[in-house]
Amino acid sequence: MAKKAKGKPHKQNKKGEMYDASGSELKRKNKSCPKCGEGVFLAKHNDRESCGKCGYTNFLGKKE
Ligand SMILES: [Zn+2]
Repeated sequence: MAKKAKGKPHKQNKKGEMYDASGSELKRKNKSCPKCGEGVFLAKHNDRESCGKCGYTNFLGKKE
């Protein structure tokens, strides 16, 4: 009877989880401007992130 439970779309659930993780990762990469709020994202540069709206710049310190 345990075979009947296998019919559940378990694999689909797993796919959804993967998509979710991808989504949050993307969100984390794009920092929002602390001055303008969450709707405005910082533009990424080589060593800094800047807001095109208010000019806020966040310098990324060298790690390593
Ligand atoms: Zn801003």
